[in-house]
Amino acid sequence: MTEQSDHYDVVNPATEEVITTVELAGLAETDAAIARARAAFESWRKVAPADRARLLRAFAAAVDADREHLAALEVANAGHTVGNARWEAGNARDVIEYYAAAPERLFGRQIPVAGGLDVTFKEPLGVVGVIVPWNFPMPIAAWGLAPALAAGNTVVLKPAELTPLTAVRLGELALQAGLPEGVLQVLPGRGAVVGQRFVTHPDVRKVVFTGSTAVGKAVMAGCAAQVKPVTLELGGKSANIVFADADLERAAATAPYAVFDNAGQDCCARSRILVEESVFEEFTARFETAVRGVRVGDPTDEKTEMGPLISAAHRERVAGYVTGEPAFRGSAPDGPGFWFPPTVLAPVRHDDRAFTEEIFGPVVTVVPFRGEEDAIRIANSTEYGLSGSIWTRDVGRALRVARGVEAGNLSVNSHSSVRYSTPFGGFKQSGLGRELGPDALDAFTETKNVFISTEE
Ligand code: NDP
Repeated sequence: MTEQSDHYDVVNPATEEVITTVELAGLAETDAAIARARAAFESWRKVAPADRARLLRAFAAAVDADREHLAALEVANAGHTVGNARWEAGNARDVIEYYAAAPERLFGRQIPVAGGLDVTFKEPLGVVGVIVPWNFPMPIAAWGLAPALAAGNTVVLKPAELTPLTAVRLGELALQAGLPEGVLQVLPGRGAVVGQRFVTHPDVRKVVFTGSTAVGKAVMAGCAAQVKPVTLELGGKSANIVFADADLERAAATAPYAVFDNAGQDCCARSRILVEESVFEEFTARFETAVRGVRVGDPTDEKTEMGPLISAAHRERVAGYVTGEPAFRGSAPDGPGFWFPPTVLAPVRHDDRAFTEEIFGPVVTVVPFRGEEDAIRIANSTEYGLSGSIWTRDVGRALRVARGVEAGNLSVNSHSSVRYSTPFGGFKQSGLGRELGPDALDAFTETKNVFISTEE
């Protein structure tokens, strides 16, 4: 190892115990991994599409067979509830399986021109650097690596320092499934070292980054120096808009999960609830009952609905947003563990930091609005634009509001944001480009145009 490499103690956020120690890569290890990925690219891009598809299907099957183990790792490392962690392992499998169909369907076009045949090819880019955050380590790793590999690229993936365990396991499973050495490498390391090297190394031809908007901007600026393409999935401050004609019982009963799922550490968290003025009191009363019922505690317990925050430092940051007395809050264990109770601030001023900034914890703000235009105006009064929900029984209104809200992923009478087969990404400062679905493949290919003369 080089002088710049070191170690990191991985902590269970529910117990504060050190689970294991992970060796962090330094610059030399990063450069070596990029060189291996570059060499592997030369053969991986030439693997017959059917064989690449078969290898990816075998990888998906290996993830499936290891699902309980992967879930247990995530419960211990990230404090995710066991139910959520199982879903996340399943999502990683689904995403890999979905993109396993892609190698044989990367269609170019034949374009009518004079004097010959014009065809386009979808060419892989080369080495892709994937930078993953700590909030959803497994799905976000899969969203980056699967379409990249399917399109014929090789991948070096850097998990977040706090949560490297499932990513390392995914790397092992890929090798077990038969992916050639160097095609997918997982490199635990510091963002400022490994992640930054993806940005500056000329042999990394694309960077996929998920994390904070501040670091995302720096990654994008760094990549600009080499005109290196980036996909950015950044922060959010999404609105959950509840109209008076909605099924209020369902809207209130499900609202806690829209923001407190994964303890609010979710870029899609609906952390601003906008309620039509005439039902503000009624909705808030129902919501209070639902919030007080959220079961917070041991993430290994099947009945637990919300686990701890990721770290003591993050808990301190979240607590900084709760300056006054909350309207109401749920309960949380005392410790050890980085616990924080579901917390509701209502009503709040529109210029309150808790209403404008991404908190990334179990803190939600509730405000009233008057009519559709006002709801859209408030929903859009943020630099972010990732997701959101609209609750109404009027389908025309649902569509008008959905078209008016500046966000990449909206749901009507639902809080779902993610399906592996549909595009996911943000408007405004929530990101650039789309992951998942067919759109993601375009982000991992260049279009090449070839003209073949038929002149004699
Ligand atoms: P960061 O943006 O700092 O980290 C995300 C990833 O980027 C990590 O793998 C990190 O590595 C890496 N990274 C850090 N610095 C650099 C760099 N200079 N160049 C390249 N990669 C880098 O997020 P934080 O973990 O600090 O979280 C802070 C806040 O960001 C959260 O509270 C939340 O508001 C937001 N966030 C949003 C996420 C989302 O899904 N949209 C996900 C995570 C955070 P390392 O772990 O080693 O620092």
